Amino acid sequence: MTTPCAAATCHRELRDTEQTNGQTICTPCSDTIRVWLRELPTQIIVLEGSRQRETTGTSSGGRTVHRTAPLPGRPDILNLLGPAAWADGIRDPYGDAHADQQGQLPIAGVLIPWVRLITEERRWNPPAVLTPQALAAWLAAPKPLAWASRQPWAGDMRDELHELIRVVRSTTRLRPGRRPIAQPCPRCDSLTLVETDHQLYIDCTHPDCGAMFTRVELAFAASIHPETLKAGAA
Ligand SMILES: [Zn+2]
Ligand SMILES: [Zn+2]
Repeated sequence: MTTPCAAATCHRELRDTEQTNGQTICTPCSDTIRVWLRELPTQIIVLEGSRQRETTGTSSGGRTVHRTAPLPGRPDILNLLGPAAWADGIRDPYGDAHADQQGQLPIAGVLIPWVRLITEERRWNPPAVLTPQALAAWLAAPKPLAWASRQPWAGDMRDELHELIRVVRSTTRLRPGRRPIAQPCPRCDSLTLVETDHQLYIDCTHPDCGAMFTRVELAFAASIHPETLKAGAA
């Protein structure tokens, strides 16, 4: 009997070792969460930079124009960098915590409910400060992430963080480098595999597939379908 990874955006079946470990999401999903969380501080530097540029006075003819009021920042950036309160981070792990939310939550507002849920269930100390950087580092640490990956809500966490990094990347236009791979996807057979900087897994970008593979898995797939590989590389 096979059990699918609990993340809606992942199509892997859980392996025996992952099931024995009690995981509800696959190891590639767990590793990908860590990659996203570690990317957030760099993205935040870019967001902060964009905010500053837009609130700094312009210069004309070499002298700074006197500015009476700061220009308003881009609301989407200000919103992403906005504060969020620990008290607002109560999460019902079996409900949709954001069903009544309008628009994009601040980065901290997405992270706090997950951090709070884990700290309360495990009685672990939360990060000393609630900056998005500190929250992301806390959540990406081995113990919290490994424990979270075994919970029934891990798939929801993965999907929410995926949506967050997607919004952040489209706001900063800063995306990790991506390159196509000349090998058909072992799952859907289309030439849509892409490798991404700093990421262990190669993703299929076909909208109906979204599979993830390690290099070893792809080499294995190529070795059992050499004619497919040849056709794909041609
Ligand atoms: Zn998965
Ligand atoms: Zn595919």
